Amino acid sequence: MTATVDILRDLHRIHTQLTDLRARLERCPKQLDAAQARLVRAESGHEHQKAGIQKLTLASKEQELLLGEREARVDILKGKLRECSSNKEYQTLNDEITAINENVSSISDEILQQYDHLEEEQASLDTLHNDLEDSRTSLVETESYIAQEESSLATEISRIELQLKDAEGDLPHDYRSEYSRMTDARGPEGLAEVIDNCCGTCFQQISLQMESELRVGKMVQCKGCAAILYSSQ
Ligand SMILES: [Zn+2]
Repeated sequence: MTATVDILRDLHRIHTQLTDLRARLERCPKQLDAAQARLVRAESGHEHQKAGIQKLTLASKEQELLLGEREARVDILKGKLRECSSNKEYQTLNDEITAINENVSSISDEILQQYDHLEEEQASLDTLHNDLEDSRTSLVETESYIAQEESSLATEISRIELQLKDAEGDLPHDYRSEYSRMTDARGPEGLAEVIDNCCGTCFQQISLQMESELRVGKMVQCKGCAAILYSSQ
């Protein structure tokens, strides 16, 4: 009779172990997905930042061109100033030069601001680039770790499944169909150790009659969760 208790305890332990190993195996592809998603995010962030910098660079090149044109215009006007014949003409040219110079100075300020902005954006790009490299490395490492983990978990699961078959072979015949039904449906929760007169799975108290039935080696199921009970008392 004691032997059945030991077999049930053993089966309970094996089912718990198998459930844990299978859950770990199931998590493997999810870990891989997460590493891949991180890389995709890093790539898109990096691309987006690069495109923004290209746009800013183009805008500042246009401003530089404009600045060059304005400065050339001032040179031409200064030449005309030397050749002009009337005060009125001189005044008109001088006004135009002053206006253009004001414009030149505001374009120069804008260009300087664009340079500062570009520098900040470039620093962000460097950070994103590092993140991209980290994500690539992390994906390669995750792929190799997961391949190893999957293979060792699969080996371990096969080994434990054999142990389960062996232990199930020792189970008394009158337990077998209910045991299969319960463990197929609920895994390790199909079995429960009685702890302090309670079911170890759902904690419902067991009756005196159930206790005495357990003591004489009868198959007893919890009234709360239907787990097949075993007790070392
Ligand atoms: Zn229970």
